[in-house]
Amino acid sequence: MSHMPYERWLFSDEPLSSEEQKALQEHLLHCEQCNLVFSAWGEVKRLLNSETAVEPTEGFVERWQIRFIEHQQREHERKANRHSWVLFIINLSMAALLFTFLLTQLLNIFGSPINLLLVGISHYATYFAFLAIVGEFFITVIKVTLSVISPTLWIVIGLILLLMNLFWLLSLRVLLSPWRLKT
Ligand SMILES: [Zn+2]
Repeated sequence: MSHMPYERWLFSDEPLSSEEQKALQEHLLHCEQCNLVFSAWGEVKRLLNSETAVEPTEGFVERWQIRFIEHQQREHERKANRHSWVLFIINLSMAALLFTFLLTQLLNIFGSPINLLLVGISHYATYFAFLAIVGEFFITVIKVTLSVISPTLWIVIGLILLLMNLFWLLSLRVLLSPWRLKT
């Protein structure tokens, strides 16, 4: 059986005449091979025409981009982590070096570790003595103020403090109110 010109007609984009069409239909009824070609070609044309089958699924590009950005961020964080660890180790070794240097310098100045300890203790002792003097001074000031100020003045001061407290609370409420936080 000859399949020409039916095969050519099948693949032709040009419209067939009614006689040609009739002949083709006739041939397709009897020829299994041309029938197969006809249905296969129809399927191919359907796939080529349907955009959904060829185009990537919706949001594919966005999802891919998001994944790519996330991947980059993870890489970046890993690198930053490594950098911060390196920096930390460098800092630690610098501090250790500095500490050793200072220690040797101090030992040079004060001779032995015991001398150094004694100097340190005397420094602390003077520091605490100074604190004690300051503390005593403030206690005396407070005592004097308490004895000088009259009870009515105390009430006024108390009221002022209370008002200031209220005002502070109100302003805090206004500052932290939801409509303000939203903007
Ligand atoms: Zn045929």
